[in-house]
Amino acid sequence: MTTPKTVAGLHHITAVSGNPQENIDFYTGPLGQKLVKQTVNFDDPGTWHLYYGDTLGSPGTILTFFPFANAAPGRAGAGAASAFAYLTAPGAIDGWLESLKAAGIPARDAGERFGQRVIALQDPHGQPVEIIGDPAVEGSGAALQGFHSTTLWVADPAPTARILTGVFGYEEAGHERQADGERLRFAAPGDGRGRFIDIYRADGAPRHRPGSGTIHHIAFRAEDDAMQDSLREALIGAGMQVTPRIDRQYFNAIYFREPGGVLFEVATDPPGFAVDEPQESLGRTLKLPPQYEAHREEIMRALPPIALPA
Ligand code: ZN
Repeated sequence: MTTPKTVAGLHHITAVSGNPQENIDFYTGPLGQKLVKQTVNFDDPGTWHLYYGDTLGSPGTILTFFPFANAAPGRAGAGAASAFAYLTAPGAIDGWLESLKAAGIPARDAGERFGQRVIALQDPHGQPVEIIGDPAVEGSGAALQGFHSTTLWVADPAPTARILTGVFGYEEAGHERQADGERLRFAAPGDGRGRFIDIYRADGAPRHRPGSGTIHHIAFRAEDDAMQDSLREALIGAGMQVTPRIDRQYFNAIYFREPGGVLFEVATDPPGFAVDEPQESLGRTLKLPPQYEAHREEIMRALPPIALPA
């Protein structure tokens, strides 16, 4: 068995939202993300699957949603990722606070975490979103630069940490006590986007309840199928139950539930979002995988209509 290459960071994060139009308006409006793919949930083609990211949908910038117009609200808790954090320059934090407030979005200065300022807000369906100022991107302007990190809530951090450090190649990067628990930070080597994972041990946290406003899973990057294969082998060696490779059209995916209960995925960088439409027009029209193309008419009739930002 070969030792897998080190994971570079997050590939994407997938969450559940309410009304798809409200979701589009929020992420493409005040947060300045680009809708890079309109497709359906491949396991439930009556539901949208919307992808946001930078203009190319680069790994480490990709946020995806399964929007359900009448979804019951979920609840953050142990056994899931609770929040995701976008990356920006430290000098942009005050400007973000002002512009979010001006847009009528309740955003608050959440103080510092590992010496970096944090803005905390919620999307229209209650999903906790953070913006963190990281000196690594100082001078990059005010735009969000993809993900900074995500926070996992688990009852016992140690077994989760062993997957991050023992299989994915993350390193321990800090430890902070907080009023109701402790936060451990892990970092992928290098300076890639989305390289931080925080594990939050919240004493007495209720169990995660899936639903609108909660994260479904987080995906880590593999540079190609060969790296995904070696990670899969190493995860099985570490006692994880890992799915076979699944073709997700824009990447190949494997999934497993890590010991703390969080659903993890490993997704390949290739082929990316330009595999079925030109880069210039990413996200403008509904794209379907080959197995659903014959049913396009009925799928379109079943999906709640959406309008794109101008
Ligand atoms: Zn995924």
